[in-house]
Amino acid sequence: MPVSIDERILYNHDIHVHTTLSECCSDLAATPERVIARAARLGIKTVGFANHFWDESIPGASTWYESQNLEHILTIRAQIPEDTHGVNVLVGCESEYCGDGVVGISREVAEQLDFVLLPMSHFHMTGFVVQQWQVANSRNVAELLVQRFREVIELGIANGIAHPFSPLGFKDSVDEIFGCISDETFQDCFGRAAELGVSIEIQPNMLPGSLGKEMEGFHDESFMRVLAIARDMGCMFHLGSDTHTLVGTGNTLKLKPYLDELAIHPDQFCSF
Ligand SMILES: [Zn+2]
Ligand SMILES: [Zn+2]
Repeated sequence: MPVSIDERILYNHDIHVHTTLSECCSDLAATPERVIARAARLGIKTVGFANHFWDESIPGASTWYESQNLEHILTIRAQIPEDTHGVNVLVGCESEYCGDGVVGISREVAEQLDFVLLPMSHFHMTGFVVQQWQVANSRNVAELLVQRFREVIELGIANGIAHPFSPLGFKDSVDEIFGCISDETFQDCFGRAAELGVSIEIQPNMLPGSLGKEMEGFHDESFMRVLAIARDMGCMFHLGSDTHTLVGTGNTLKLKPYLDELAIHPDQFCSF
């Protein structure tokens, strides 16, 4: 039975919001208080804070991650106002996966948070997440995306995968990269994610048209194909704007026409 858009609005949430606690956030207005107030205005029911995080008890942090430790990201608890205007607020993180089982968060620490997002494709962090030779061409990038996705879902740490299969640093060639990955391979990856209950993130950055962007080598069709396969394999999904600015909070609303087309059943949405 087709699901009406009104019904799906019940699933309005933004589970991937960065605040000023993330090093790459340069918007001083991106404070929990203002983010929550904006979410309430937009009718977003759940906000998940997912600042960048590498646990200091785990060796190997890059210089960039070093200061973004547990104590740092948990200062957010004191920044969340008592009155959240009815918005359900979750405190999680976006940690890091560097391949070979190297992950920036332990299970013990994960349990102290409401949710954990793990990215598997911060391929712009060369020398840390990837070595240059691993991403020499589109086929290499495609193979590494598949390999890292398979590995990260098996860790038993992530509630959800941040921007799954988004090749950061290679956004100009998403179409070509996805052309190197067969439907069968995607089915296999998402079938396992569904079995493990690891949620697939949908974010506007995966669908340039949702943000009014036109890109030569990156069209909405690429991720629509992938998300349709994940839907058919029975994956769970969550929505995240991955915003690093106050005004980007609730950009998940821009996904509406795409969600309409995908017609993912509401039961397949989780908000942790
Ligand atoms: Zn990320
Ligand atoms: Zn992020």
